Amino acid sequence: MKFGGTSVADIDRIRNVARHVKREVDAGHDVAVVVSAMAGKTNELVAWCRDASALHDAREYDAVVASGEQVTAGLLAIVLQSIGVTARSWQGWQIPIVTSHAHGAARILGIDGDELIKRFKERKEVAVIAGFQGIHKESGRVTTLGRGGSDTSAVAIAAAIHADRCDIYTDVDGVYTTDPRVVPKARRLDKIAFEEMLELASLGAKVMQVRSVELGMVHKVRIFVRSSFEKPEDIDPMSNHPPGTLICDEEEIVEQQVVTGIAFSKDEAQISIRRVQDKPGVAAAIFGPLAEASINVDMIVQNVSADGKTTDLTFTVPAADYQRSMDVIGKARDTIGFDRIDGASDVAKVSVIGIGMRSHAGVAAQAFKALADRNINIRAITTSEIKFSVLIDAAYTELAVRTLHALYGLDK
Ligand code: ASP
Ligand code: MG
Repeated sequence: MKFGGTSVADIDRIRNVARHVKREVDAGHDVAVVVSAMAGKTNELVAWCRDASALHDAREYDAVVASGEQVTAGLLAIVLQSIGVTARSWQGWQIPIVTSHAHGAARILGIDGDELIKRFKERKEVAVIAGFQGIHKESGRVTTLGRGGSDTSAVAIAAAIHADRCDIYTDVDGVYTTDPRVVPKARRLDKIAFEEMLELASLGAKVMQVRSVELGMVHKVRIFVRSSFEKPEDIDPMSNHPPGTLICDEEEIVEQQVVTGIAFSKDEAQISIRRVQDKPGVAAAIFGPLAEASINVDMIVQNVSADGKTTDLTFTVPAADYQRSMDVIGKARDTIGFDRIDGASDVAKVSVIGIGMRSHAGVAAQAFKALADRNINIRAITTSEIKFSVLIDAAYTELAVRTLHALYGLDK
């Protein structure tokens, strides 16, 4: 069981979490619980580090920000004990959750689940584990996994103890076909395949940290996204169908739809380099400096040259990096060689996702027609095996999302 920041935001909510845990324990399950810091806590700790010194030691940053989860783990163990559940808290280093040394963005290298399993067997003891943190063995220093990292902690722990399922309790009751604030008819999905969830998560559906879904896919951990705000007493712990969304292997999904969901992001900017030289090394001259500046390039579209000499190249970057990207390209003008740069920051990317696309032709063609009927101009298109994305004017985002949601029968 994993509980996010809003679910443990105060002592009352921690009591609510404890009742969820007790319900599962009473049903005879062995339980490991991973907790986040109280809502807003990590932001506060990060701000303190910045305030202390703009250029701070990443190892000390981790020592500070890991503390939020330590507090909630201890508090939950206290509350569990007070309602008669045997429990103890664990910090990352105590298990240990061994990670790389990349402070602030460490990767989990291994977790030994034996001690936790032994305690399930011998004492029926619930393990309350601080998410988001681990230890770098060689240096003995505390590490953190990057923002939102306790999802990843939870899936990794689930794999290490061979859990039947990893339940992510959060402030939404599952994964939706699209953002319900934009499309009120958006539906909660009963199941979604790992690959689809990976696309949705990386495209900005902020339900789970992308890395946690990746980990679930690799280790075949079934992940169940569900609400922590339901009354714990109202849930039958033996039910196979509590409300929520199961992220699982595609084989487990019997009635696979062609399209599963629509994602969108308005934080995009488009940059087009006109009449760039068409010769080996030019793409490297453009994207090398962008990579060095740690700018994440997303869509890349290059045309085949007509005259064999020059062509146009378009790509997108996060809106926040728009000006910096323009500067980087401007500085490299002599090595790249081009006529001019055009850009737009009021653009949005809308993406259609579904494993069924692998075996169905014409899925994207339908979308192009529907968008044209609404007079929405497409600036650029990219596709992969199970998704396609269109870049459009940001003003049309909602209209495009609603149009596509209806087009693929997701309204029903
Ligand atoms: N507390 C950490 C954060 O806010 C980790 C998490 O909540 O997943 O990033
Ligand atoms: Mg989170």
